[in-house]
Amino acid sequence: MAQPARNAASAHRILPEPPVPRPPGEESLDVWGFADSGFRVNAAGQVEFRGARYAISGKVIPSLLPWAETILGVALDPADRHASGYPTALPPRLANESLERALASRLPAERISTDPSVLLRHGHGHTQEDMWAVKHGRLARVPDLVVWPVSEEEVRLVLELAREHGACLVPFGGGTNVTDALRCPPEERRTIVSVDLRRMNRVLWIDPVNQTAEIQAGATGLEIEAQLDRHGFTLGHEPDSIEHSTLGGWIATFASGMKKNRYGNIEDIVLSLRAVTPEGALAREAAPRESVGPDPARWLFGSEGQLGIVTSAVTKVFPTPACRRFGSVLFHDFESGFAFLHAVQRSGAVPASVRLMDNLQFQFGQALRPERRGLAALKGRLERFFVTRLRGFDPARMVACTLLFEGSVDEVAAQERAVYRLAARHGGMRAGAENGERGYQLTFAIAYIRDFMLDHYVLGESFETSVAWSEALALCANVKQRLWQEHAKRGLPGKPFASCRVTQLYDTGVCIYFYFAFHYKGVENASEAYAELERAARDEILGSGGSLSHHHGVGKLRQPFLPRVFSPAALAWRRRLKASIDPENVFGGGNG
Ligand SMILES: Cc1cc2nc3c(=O)[nH]c(=O)nc-3n(C[C@H](O)[C@H](O)[C@H](O)COP(=O)(O)OP(=O)(O)OC[C@H]3O[C@@H](n4cnc5c(N)ncnc54)[C@H](O)[C@@H]3O)c2cc1C
Repeated sequence: MAQPARNAASAHRILPEPPVPRPPGEESLDVWGFADSGFRVNAAGQVEFRGARYAISGKVIPSLLPWAETILGVALDPADRHASGYPTALPPRLANESLERALASRLPAERISTDPSVLLRHGHGHTQEDMWAVKHGRLARVPDLVVWPVSEEEVRLVLELAREHGACLVPFGGGTNVTDALRCPPEERRTIVSVDLRRMNRVLWIDPVNQTAEIQAGATGLEIEAQLDRHGFTLGHEPDSIEHSTLGGWIATFASGMKKNRYGNIEDIVLSLRAVTPEGALAREAAPRESVGPDPARWLFGSEGQLGIVTSAVTKVFPTPACRRFGSVLFHDFESGFAFLHAVQRSGAVPASVRLMDNLQFQFGQALRPERRGLAALKGRLERFFVTRLRGFDPARMVACTLLFEGSVDEVAAQERAVYRLAARHGGMRAGAENGERGYQLTFAIAYIRDFMLDHYVLGESFETSVAWSEALALCANVKQRLWQEHAKRGLPGKPFASCRVTQLYDTGVCIYFYFAFHYKGVENASEAYAELERAARDEILGSGGSLSHHHGVGKLRQPFLPRVFSPAALAWRRRLKASIDPENVFGGGNG
């Protein structure tokens, strides 16, 4: 098949250095994140954050557990832990000797593994069900083999061998999905091979004239940004999971980052891609805009590993912004903060990131403040006095909005003027760059809290939706109320933590993230109880006009809801597309 030449106009392209290899063991296998970081109870019985990567690293966080006790209405004894049973028992491995011999003859031994801990890690992402299963339950099926290709040719080879020897393939990016997308179908009797793309992590070229780059699909966000930054560029895609999720995973899940207001969602950033599919290769560089009928490469967006393996993509890149400034604003209540967001979107002066926390999340952010002593403690008390007593903000109603402005110095200055003027009009009070930066960066450390709280009998998770401006406030209220009702109906302990934030803005609506947690000590089958409540919340979201997902995807978690969002004809199209491209169901991960 004729393919257009790759890298045709390459004279001015920069060829970046490959990324620094990640040290082995850098990432935890049984909990979120880097092995050197995370919350723990120290010898003095206080909560602290280990490591040195984040602003709260190495700091004691005295208010977290007392605050959680108040909100959850239960006593949390730091010494009372639900010991993790990781690694839980693995199902028997389904070997395929002929395939394994063929792979061993073509790939180096160090790029094939049947190590149980490796198989286990490749059989899940980061839903509460996933993390519960690896600590307190069991995964019914995991991959039987993991391979690490280093080139598109090797990906093609793995696919050819899988077809020849009757195996099933599941592409693996960073393993950070939150939809059970990497859960292996328990009924799958073929050998399942997890194809881990993370050794394909290079930015192949940067085109500074056209502001494009070709990036291999297994590169994590951190690796991409490090390679681009050396040449004065950024991708601008910053999901909360940026440290560990990959370009291929972002494409396969329709990901969205915190700075989408400026740089766009993944489908806006990726211009074209290369993929290895059972039907053959998809391989072309698209022009800046085209009218060529449906482009099959676009079907890979949201494909969740079902249609083939994305090997690289040509993306937009943006000059590293000359100016980057954080900000924050306090509002008297969620409604006025929300009205401010609407006005910001209508003004056209939308900062790279605008996030509005509800009161509970604002309180949560305060509870995560590291211990302050001496002058810093005094300053904190004075600030609180000023905000609550002098400016009249009610601690039980007030909300916070964090802002990140990026662009040229003039652009940022103009946006700041417009945004703060609108904030004042909605009763907002500027709360400073320091608080804005703290709130923004805390996102990366908060990702570690779920595993910590799980050890202390608190089960939590986040889930998202998008909804029209006109329906958003009602949706937030309905979902929280439903969670409280369902929690009470089941007689679960204490009170639920049900909170939300608005994270992305569109002309027509917003993305809303919910955070939900409850105390599960003494609850039989707590993970399933949680899953039931999450399903009830999704039912409420759909009933209130929200979407099935804004950016997490469908996976297996939200699959049962698909008939509520697509017509029978649309579902038939989806099934037929899959069946015609992959008639043998080589990509048998069972998603979407
Ligand atoms: C703490 C935390 C924060 C998060 N924040 C965000 C956020 O801000 N925004 C957001 O969008 N998501 C977020 N997520 C969800 C998750 O990070 C995204 O869904 C991400 O896009 C998954 O990428 P991954 O590389 O980890 O993919 P994986 O989890 O490895 O895989 C996800 C799916 O994509 C398929 N896949 C992976 N690579 C390829 C490939 N090269 N070709 C074909 N299919 C492939 C897999 O088979 C699987 O079905 C968050 C998750 C966590 C745990």
